[in-house]
Amino acid sequence: MSSPSQAPPPVTTPVLEAPKDNPFEDMLARFDVAAEQLDLDDGMIKVLKTPERQLKVAIPIRLDDGSTEVFDGWRVQHNSAMGPCKGGIRYSPHVDVDEVCALAAWMTWKCAIVNVPFGGAKGGVRCNARELSLPELERITRRYTTGIMDIIGPDRDVPAPDMYTNEQVMAWIMDTYSMHRRGSHTGIVTGKPWGLGGSMGRREATGRGLLTMVREAVRTKKIELAKASVVVQGSGNVGGTIALLLHEAGVRIKAISDIDGGLVNAKGLDIPGVLAYQEKHRTLSGCPLGEDCSNAELLSMECDIMVPCAAENQITSRNAEKLQAKIIIEGANGPTTARADAILDAQDIFVIPDILANAGGVVVSYFEWVQDRMGIFWEERDVNKRLEKIMQKAFRQVHKRTKTSHVNMRTAAYMEGIGRVAHITRMRGMYP
Ligand code: NAD
Repeated sequence: MSSPSQAPPPVTTPVLEAPKDNPFEDMLARFDVAAEQLDLDDGMIKVLKTPERQLKVAIPIRLDDGSTEVFDGWRVQHNSAMGPCKGGIRYSPHVDVDEVCALAAWMTWKCAIVNVPFGGAKGGVRCNARELSLPELERITRRYTTGIMDIIGPDRDVPAPDMYTNEQVMAWIMDTYSMHRRGSHTGIVTGKPWGLGGSMGRREATGRGLLTMVREAVRTKKIELAKASVVVQGSGNVGGTIALLLHEAGVRIKAISDIDGGLVNAKGLDIPGVLAYQEKHRTLSGCPLGEDCSNAELLSMECDIMVPCAAENQITSRNAEKLQAKIIIEGANGPTTARADAILDAQDIFVIPDILANAGGVVVSYFEWVQDRMGIFWEERDVNKRLEKIMQKAFRQVHKRTKTSHVNMRTAAYMEGIGRVAHITRMRGMYP
């Protein structure tokens, strides 16, 4: 350890050479950096890198026009050392097995970072939810649930919402599973509606966790939040919630976007008005409360805090140099490619990585699962208070690791998560 009079070794970020924009390869590249720091042996590295189970299912559906379509669906369980697998289900036209594997692995490290007793999983169905009717989405959900039924369960693998899935989709999964199992199994999914075993505060949990990250980050970087400007990419569950919470806290949101483009107002957007417009029109396009901009323009805007809350691979080696934010807080999973990490470090941008920043969702999912098992439900203020405490502790542990290991926040977060899973794996031993 360096004495107080000695300057610590410089923080260096290896330039990672993952193949272009492949989230699973990105995860592995960052894993290798953390594993080397942790001095993990080759056997442990092989175990922790390899997803335990990958299931692909075909989902044949009768569409509303009478024709038949077959959709592809996946459920990947990356690692169950810490407990039942946990992870969302996304409906997206771009989803593939690499994306689902990456998301499942990130869930493993994320659960470990916030110390919830879950392993990591993820699911996806390749479809365009924006073009499907509600009855079509219901049929897809029920058939997909039936397809993955044998590997999920309250003690095995517990799905939750992700992109383009919501409380309604979770209710259909719970109902389908319960019909097959001849009972009422609320613990099969989290993110359910209130009254069906859902938890108070789950819908806002990821955004609320991000708010704690914002507060911790500005404290660390000595930025006055009241004077800060914020840009949010994505205005769904995560982006919409963090924008609203910050707006309510008196913080200026300069721009926000959805998949169709962005909306900017340098003086600060009226976020409740913007979200009400989006709710009514199902898009931000044409909203009169700001000027239009593209997602690319939004990402390179001058601001104190940038919160990407949309999709993966938004901040890449191609645009990272253009970013002007002082702090990036990753609400989305994988918004930054591995190749962009070193570029952001070189610009001294403080990045709070996804596996720490957006962990609030899985923390309250854990609370929901606990409440379902107890049959007793908590007040929203208790949920929020417990969430804040866990997120604050996780941030501080990761930040402390940056000092002791002289690494950036992302590597420190990977080290915290991977180190804990490795420890538990050693304790459990290898079966048989
Ligand atoms: P959502 O479907 O509610 O919202 C997604 C938003 O991103 C929408 O506004 C959509 O228009 C926009 N978007 C999608 N693709 C885009 C693109 N290519 N460019 C710009 N905007 C785009 O989804 P969500 O639940 O808010 O999830 C957003 C991200 O947060 C995902 O990466 C998800 O994995 C991650 N996440 C979600 C949760 C959760 O609890 N929902 C928890 C942790 C992480």
